[in-house]
Amino acid sequence: MKIEIIPCLSDNYSYLIHDKETNIVSIIDPSEFNACDKIIQKYKKLDFILNTHHHADHVDGNLKLKKKYNSKILGFELDKDRIPGIDVLLKENQKHKIGNLEFKIIFVPGHTKGHIAFFFNKEKIIFTGDTLFSLGCGRVFEGTKKEMYRSLKKIKDLPPETKVYCGHEYTKSNLKFCLTYDTNNVFLKKKMREIEKKLNKRVPTIPTSIEDEIKTNIFLRCDDPAIKSALKLSSSSEDEVFSKLRDLKDSF
Ligand code: ZN
Ligand code: FE
Repeated sequence: MKIEIIPCLSDNYSYLIHDKETNIVSIIDPSEFNACDKIIQKYKKLDFILNTHHHADHVDGNLKLKKKYNSKILGFELDKDRIPGIDVLLKENQKHKIGNLEFKIIFVPGHTKGHIAFFFNKEKIIFTGDTLFSLGCGRVFEGTKKEMYRSLKKIKDLPPETKVYCGHEYTKSNLKFCLTYDTNNVFLKKKMREIEKKLNKRVPTIPTSIEDEIKTNIFLRCDDPAIKSALKLSSSSEDEVFSKLRDLKDSF
């Protein structure tokens, strides 16, 4: 499984997946036609388009790419009226194949009502869209914060070595936020140095891993006594801590 990271718009990432055995080419969340088409031209075909959710910065390339390459568009059944050009309606926990590559649909509502993540079990790779970011999480637009937290926990429960490919390069500002409330976390400081190195070289900070995120992403650490205490929420529930963090980040 070869993955090409395609930077789009100001801070989006689309991803091209090439299954070398079958020569099946797929793209996850084509934000814009031109940037994606440039990479697709190397393969001269695009079999599938996979969408994590309906937002314009994740689906804007759908129709033009479908028209040019006669691709099939896959998205969650709940978003059948919101994902442009959708052909295949995916269900929660369903397993689906693109070439020989099998992935499972993880339903992760919160950012939107129909948000899904694509988990490639054998390769231990997940595409999380705008649900889990490196050191952050998406804003809660259509769901509740409780739903969002439950969704993040589903991702947190995947094997720790799982590589995470998310929808945006928000790592730098997420890092600043984490450092504000998780001041003594040695893993976070180590992660900071790795991130700075990458950003200085102007390369993506993606992928991250579940293991790294559990150790450093404040939104996955709502049960940590040090963070609870920094927020003056020592006796609060994880849901309450998450809700507070999301509010603070929204105005950060
Ligand atoms: Zn979005
Ligand atoms: Fe987005």
